[in-house]
Amino acid sequence: MPEEEGEPVGMPEPEGEPVRAPEEEGEPGGGLAALARAPFRSLPSRIILSVFGAALATSLAVALVSTSSIESFLSAEIDQKFPATLNGASERLDLWYAQRRLDIETFARSATVVENAQRISSSRTRDRERAHTELGQYLAYVLERFPQYKGLVLLDAGGEAAVWVGPELDLPPGLVAGLSQVSVSAVGSMHPVEGGYAQLASAPIMGARQQRLGSLHAMIRPSAVSEVLHDDELGETGAIYVVGRDGRTLFQGTSGERRSGYPSALPDAEETPRVAHYTASTGASVVGSAMRFARFGWTVVVEEDYDEAFAPVVAVIRRILAINLGVVLLFGLAAYQFARSIVSPIRALSEGARRIADGETDVVVPLPAAQDEIEMLTRVFNEMSQRLHRNQAELERSRLEVERANESLVANNEELQRVNEVLEQLSITDGLTKLHNHRFFQDHLQRELRRVRRSGEPLSLILIDIDDFKKLNDRYGHSTGDAVLREVAVVMNGVVRESDLLARYGGEEFALLATQTELEGARALGEKVRLAIAEARFSADGVDEPVGVTVSVGCAAYHGDPDALFREADRALYQAKAAGKDCVVSAA
Ligand code: GH3
Ligand code: MG
Ligand code: MG
Repeated sequence: MPEEEGEPVGMPEPEGEPVRAPEEEGEPGGGLAALARAPFRSLPSRIILSVFGAALATSLAVALVSTSSIESFLSAEIDQKFPATLNGASERLDLWYAQRRLDIETFARSATVVENAQRISSSRTRDRERAHTELGQYLAYVLERFPQYKGLVLLDAGGEAAVWVGPELDLPPGLVAGLSQVSVSAVGSMHPVEGGYAQLASAPIMGARQQRLGSLHAMIRPSAVSEVLHDDELGETGAIYVVGRDGRTLFQGTSGERRSGYPSALPDAEETPRVAHYTASTGASVVGSAMRFARFGWTVVVEEDYDEAFAPVVAVIRRILAINLGVVLLFGLAAYQFARSIVSPIRALSEGARRIADGETDVVVPLPAAQDEIEMLTRVFNEMSQRLHRNQAELERSRLEVERANESLVANNEELQRVNEVLEQLSITDGLTKLHNHRFFQDHLQRELRRVRRSGEPLSLILIDIDDFKKLNDRYGHSTGDAVLREVAVVMNGVVRESDLLARYGGEEFALLATQTELEGARALGEKVRLAIAEARFSADGVDEPVGVTVSVGCAAYHGDPDALFREADRALYQAKAAGKDCVVSAA
């Protein structure tokens, strides 16, 4: 039967890891601490971490997909919006400049201007003065009505500034020379002047016979261009601006942030403008697009802060992050509860198992609420525990029974021993006198003989016989005889030594074995016994006065022959009887 010899099946010896105290186990309450100590060792930590991970990964994936799709949606929207904005701005600008050309042409052809321009070259001073006054009034009126211009100048046929309204502008002579040659009405490009740029709309002033009378020029107010560039469709940070051929910003739309410099990151203005994401001169991260403005070879740029353009993405990311946080927390809480529901009953079970290991038997683990595998395990555990408890009780009862049976066995044994001892005593004791009997005397004598044979010590035998006992029996009755026999034994016992053996040898005969005693000593001992008996008086029931008895004594010493010892003692006793009784005779 190998099972009985080997290790118990299914119960491996605990080795390696010591049994941990239940407090150390990852209870969800202390789960956070356990999590911090060893994130992957405790069961609740693992559950919480995996749920956290799953929730986080899922929501991050959703966040990634949704933000990227929103981003691409916004990109597409901007890809459409920016070129449209640029086209709009470009067309407005073109129209506006066309209008300015028409303005100046209209002014230059007006009767007031033509007539007075003619008079200016008149030889008469009065006419010239009048012409100056009227032209001044007219141009002042025009300037007042047309805020797009900040100043007007009329050059005479000789190229001299005849009339000037608005702030003085120090125009370079080269520019003025060029202007005086203007033959068709047009808006010129930007001219560098002191303190900035100047742009002029110019038209020739022609007389009735198509003779050249001079030219009219209107300085365009930059803020008026800025107003044209204004676009309500753009966001707060959105801006439209115009960059000159030299790369310097010429006009900035009135809306949006002020930026300067045409970014090199922006792709070259093309037929179909593209949208790019780059860092503007202000350092801001922007999305922008550019378009060629053919009239002056300028570039129109539209820009918007990246953050604003993609603000919906940021908002969505924020919302998703908030939802993520909520989802992760919710699932974390659920994981915590789940871990608790798993770990609490397992802890209860392990605590129960520990109590059983400590020797307790009546262990009942409370059943968990959920009817799952752990509940089944707990149920089976409790049944096992109860069975163990019953078996233990049964074992205890059996043990007690065996113990009781054992006790009674021991008691019986002791009783038997006592009886045996009594029997033994009885078998070697004379019932009447309580002295040793004949049998015991013989056994003891054999032992003594063996001993003295080895040691060589002296040994003597004394035989004592009550005198005329038959007569005493006859006279007082047998029971009185018995009583006297008992008392004689008591008196003799008082005389002999501990080491000597006194026995009732026959009816009224006694034998005394005296160890370490020579014949002389034996005789003295015999005499002592005889005297003690002779002096004693014995009382008995039915006897009026105490009676006296005498004894005859025969002594012999051992000389190596046991038979001779008895023969000689017997003969000595016989001689003592023959010598008249109540005396002691030693063997010759
Ligand atoms: P002697 O002086 O020669 O020894 O005479 P005796 O009468 O003592 O000796 P005898 O041998 O003739 O008689 C012994 C008597 O002792 C006989 C018997 O009745 C008596 N006797 C022996 N055993 C007992 C006993 O146990 N009880 C009583 N009462 N008497 C006993
Ligand atoms: Mg006798
Ligand atoms: Mg006798």
